[in-house]
Amino acid sequence: MRRIVLHLDMNSYFASVEQQVNPSLRDRPVGVCATMGTRGCIIASSKEAKAIGIKTGCRISEARRLCREVVLLEVDPPKYRSTTRKVFDILKQYSDDVEPYSIDEAFVNLTGYSPSFERAAAIAAEIKTRVFCEVGDWLSNSVGIGSTRWLAKFASDICEKGKLLVLQSDNLHEYLKSRTLTEAWGIAEPTARKLNSVGICTLDQLADYSPHKLMRMFGVRGYGLWANVNGIETTAQRVSDNILPLPKSIGHSHVLLKRCRDSVFHRGVLMRLVERTGRRLRATKLTARGVFASVGFADHESCGGNRQLGHDIQGSKEIFDEVWQIIGDELRKNTPTSFAVGVFQLAPEIPQQVLWPTKTRPGLNTALDTINNRYGDETIIWGTLSGLDDSHAPDRIGFRKTLPIESQAR
Ligand SMILES: [Mg+2]
Repeated sequence: MRRIVLHLDMNSYFASVEQQVNPSLRDRPVGVCATMGTRGCIIASSKEAKAIGIKTGCRISEARRLCREVVLLEVDPPKYRSTTRKVFDILKQYSDDVEPYSIDEAFVNLTGYSPSFERAAAIAAEIKTRVFCEVGDWLSNSVGIGSTRWLAKFASDICEKGKLLVLQSDNLHEYLKSRTLTEAWGIAEPTARKLNSVGICTLDQLADYSPHKLMRMFGVRGYGLWANVNGIETTAQRVSDNILPLPKSIGHSHVLLKRCRDSVFHRGVLMRLVERTGRRLRATKLTARGVFASVGFADHESCGGNRQLGHDIQGSKEIFDEVWQIIGDELRKNTPTSFAVGVFQLAPEIPQQVLWPTKTRPGLNTALDTINNRYGDETIIWGTLSGLDDSHAPDRIGFRKTLPIESQAR
């Protein structure tokens, strides 16, 4: 049976939903912001805002400088989630194998539901019409169709906004030709630089290169890089099998090697456990609404508890502050022998690292994680960790998951 995968990506999503709900915002530059303070930044801009240079990551002050009339709104996740649910409900009527990939993207496996790419293109046109009529006439989406999950996503990434692109073996090379490596889903600057060093500068050059040499450079991933641009499937046959269940909690524990009443040392160990937890939380694109912590003592007593917050958190410093509220005072009363910390009530973050108000510093967390992922753990550390020996609470790694959209409705 011919494998056919469709990928749908909503365009300028948060800003378009705002314009859909409030028609007076249509045709005007709109920026959706994580917070409205002077240090806030735009996390999603409307196509009118993009046209005048107001892009994701742009500071509020800069956006106002670029256009005095820009309409700035605070992010409103329930609004976007309910719209997403309506779009995905339509997709589910065309296949029982749908993989929600993020709040505004999903894969639909049309294998067995559509006999040909022509029919799949007709289904895509019908989906577009239905989103227009049934969800919102201001919402636009790009759709890609291909014989693999990767090609479908690549097609929707490179096609003109609001349009449809079908990639097949007979036109694939034409679309890969002269296209830079980082335009491919999954290739970032470091990988591109490594490929450049062996003379691969465009995606068609990557497709024509030896997969064996790529595997020597990148291991198994090298095969994936080559297979993707050659239209060979490397993920689950059922796209929804790429969805992993949402974890209930993320946390770390540690039995202390040193028994003492040194609060600087205890804060350091706790911070290391919290930072591991925070990095896994952020790497899996989740946020938490609860924090737990416990401490075991030399006399076999223990204490701890949890705190339920009224908002989402993701930053290590925020998690640490809650942990310290729970067990900080107890540490002075006895000699700790073990710690356990973690987060619960998890939900997928809104993409582009939004998150709720107040104390969160998504830009700072992203910067720290990027540096530590690239150059090694604890290349940059929180001051609390300075002077703490590596042997205390040694490393664990984090990973990323594709999550079901249902889990986004907490
Ligand atoms: Mg999008």
